[in-house]
Amino acid sequence: MINAERLAERIETLGNIGRTLDGGVTRIALSEEDRQAQAVVSAWMEQAGMTVHLDPAGNLIGRVEGMDKTAHPVVIGSHIDSVVNGGKYDGTIGVLGGIEVVQHLKEEGILTMRPIEVIAFCEEEGSRFQSGLFGSRAMIGATTEEELGLKDKQGITRSEALARMGLDPGKIKAEAVRAQSDIRVYLEMHIEQGPVLEKMKAPVGIVTDIAGPSWMEVVVQGKAGHAGTLPMEMRQDAFLGASEIALLVERVCLSYKGKPVVGTVGHVEVKPGGSNIVPGRVVFSVDIRDVDEARRDEVIRQVKEGAAGICEQRGLQVSFRERLNVQPVQCTPAIVDVMKEQSKAMQLECPELVSGAGHDAQLIASISDMGMIFVRCKNGISHNPEEFAETADIALGTELLSRVTLHYAMQ
Ligand SMILES: [Zn+2]
Repeated sequence: MINAERLAERIETLGNIGRTLDGGVTRIALSEEDRQAQAVVSAWMEQAGMTVHLDPAGNLIGRVEGMDKTAHPVVIGSHIDSVVNGGKYDGTIGVLGGIEVVQHLKEEGILTMRPIEVIAFCEEEGSRFQSGLFGSRAMIGATTEEELGLKDKQGITRSEALARMGLDPGKIKAEAVRAQSDIRVYLEMHIEQGPVLEKMKAPVGIVTDIAGPSWMEVVVQGKAGHAGTLPMEMRQDAFLGASEIALLVERVCLSYKGKPVVGTVGHVEVKPGGSNIVPGRVVFSVDIRDVDEARRDEVIRQVKEGAAGICEQRGLQVSFRERLNVQPVQCTPAIVDVMKEQSKAMQLECPELVSGAGHDAQLIASISDMGMIFVRCKNGISHNPEEFAETADIALGTELLSRVTLHYAMQ
């Protein structure tokens, strides 16, 4: 078995870097806290027998060679950056779990055929430059000039932030990008960030799909007026139209009961925004996610069609603009099978579930076979100081990660 105590201690130690007053963690990418965390994690990687380097995109990479030096590695990855006042498990359990796997194999005297790498990807959360999955996007060769030029609140560009860490973003293309099938398998362990495993009383789950979000900005245009003098039947109240559209999003998603379709209106701006003014214009967000792209597109079509009808009846104009469109990704079925076999050998009942949240794994999937393990977390809470996962659950997830890693690293 992997060393659960050591792993729990490391999670605590890392959680103290950037610790907030209410017990959360603020460890923004490429910040002083992130630099400190990288130094600590590097030292643990070295303790586990890995050689460590930072690629030009700020990805921290530890590697232990196998017997066959030309073989493509098994890669275990996740991230150690956090959101503002987030938790100490999101991302970190995947990186520290990966280091534990390598250290455990070393202590057991197991020399694998393939190399094993553990990667802490740069800015997964997007809390600094509002554009996440940066490090994994760099690794698949999809970095854009635009995202390197994004500025943080202090006006520092991402390129400058990388340079301050002693990195040269100009070398990303040459040195950070991995070629297609350079990686034998990519494995990621993460807290679930949802309530499914807890409800099923299962400590660990096997991910089958990662949902792809579609973000739209919706503008409903009506006519502002005086809340006292404008008769009800003469109004073109943009907020009432927007409200009906929000309810429509719920209704359409619920019509796919049992399927992982979710829709959310999370940001609403009402203009002019006075308590005595009939709203003339509303701008709001719609986030729709599914693991089935065709079904997601059908949901969007129904929402757009329904919204047009609602607005026509109310004398409003409506327009939709796509802000983000990420394709859903299926985890490699063969890896899911290996995970099932290995969990069975551990006598661990692991339900299959989908990931509603995005992860580095969904990008790395474009260059490698990919599998994900979820660990139960308390009340499904993440990105919050309340975020919590039991040491015993993380240990079981890491043991499964270790077995799956060994399975692939030996062949
Ligand atoms: Zn995460």
